[in-house]
Amino acid sequence: MIDKAILLIIDGLGDRPIAALGDRTPLEAAHTPNLDRLATSAECGMMHTVGRGVRPGSDVAHLAIFGYERSLYYPGRGPIEAAGIGVPLEDGDVAMRGNLGTVDDKLEIVDRRAGRIRVVEPFTKMLDGMEIDGVTFLVKPGTAHRAVVVMRGPDLSAAITDNDPHVEGVAASTVTATDDSPSAKRTADALNQFLARAHEILKGHPDNRARRAEGLFEANYILLRGAGQYRRLPSFKERYGLDGCCIAGGGLYKGVAAFLGMTVLDCPGATGLPDTDIRAKFDLALESLSEYDFVFVHVKATDSLAEDGNFAGKKDFTERIDEAAAAFDALPESALLVVTADHSTPSELCAHSADPVPILFHGQGVRVDGVTAFGERACTSGGLGFITGADVMPQVINLLGRSPLLGG
Ligand code: ZN
Repeated sequence: MIDKAILLIIDGLGDRPIAALGDRTPLEAAHTPNLDRLATSAECGMMHTVGRGVRPGSDVAHLAIFGYERSLYYPGRGPIEAAGIGVPLEDGDVAMRGNLGTVDDKLEIVDRRAGRIRVVEPFTKMLDGMEIDGVTFLVKPGTAHRAVVVMRGPDLSAAITDNDPHVEGVAASTVTATDDSPSAKRTADALNQFLARAHEILKGHPDNRARRAEGLFEANYILLRGAGQYRRLPSFKERYGLDGCCIAGGGLYKGVAAFLGMTVLDCPGATGLPDTDIRAKFDLALESLSEYDFVFVHVKATDSLAEDGNFAGKKDFTERIDEAAAAFDALPESALLVVTADHSTPSELCAHSADPVPILFHGQGVRVDGVTAFGERACTSGGLGFITGADVMPQVINLLGRSPLLGG
């Protein structure tokens, strides 16, 4: 009987037929003996992650696969980013992600990323904990020029605009309420005061004086976007009774996992980029089965390469995933392995699409079907048929023997 599971999500793996690949997708054209062997001894199918015709972002797609439906649980990007860098959120917090950027004396944006400054912690710590009108501002560093701002206090709202105009050469925007509620107005007012005060503090920061002297862009302004309000939600553990962990390189995926209360493991060599150490991730996934019931492993670069239109790179990277998937030869008999993608990213579209993605369930008890290759078309004839992301966790729970009996 299986009692553990690994869920491998290969970001943006699904694609469309490409003439230069002989009308095959990058996955179909790639030499993938290990994935094909897994498919041969698995139950396969296709998945419309969020629903037919729906083109999901990666965050919404992952939440759907974990059983957290967007309209009930998706808080926007800010709270997920905040969770990803380890900020414990409280009910009602409004979180935003952003950059430290450079503005001139007229608050016109000179550089949105302060010359891609590498470390912003000396700046964020000067602002962290500021209080304005009963609102506490938590200001935490992200990677490189990125930061997260969390507003904590009574009666806040995420119905506010970004102050980041997303272009340079124009003035940073004033934050305004996007509805008529007093809470949105109050939130926007407090945030505008914070941004002005933060600018004054950052301007005088000794590190900025040093940057000025060296001719570098100063980190003298905070550009924010993606406000979202955190509402307490049932954790993955509360929902399924499974201790979950996450192995990922990309911050967003760590964020989604942390947001659901999974433990985010450190995997040396996992970068979220094409140079990532895939085998290290898969080996750590197998090791982690001794401590966790559910291991979520994420591989990112298939999506990034497709967004760059690089179908040959996507095919090559898929072959590297396959090579690393030899690690799953050591999958214990007590473990289920699910392999899928969060959405399709057709390389000729350079963007996410609503095309369904292949999925396989491998492990004791699955009804092995006649599919012998892991691919977008091969899996259409699999035993699972066409499922949605919301079907994944119920099937995992079923195979783990944990489904409650309904009725007598
Ligand atoms: Zn994705």
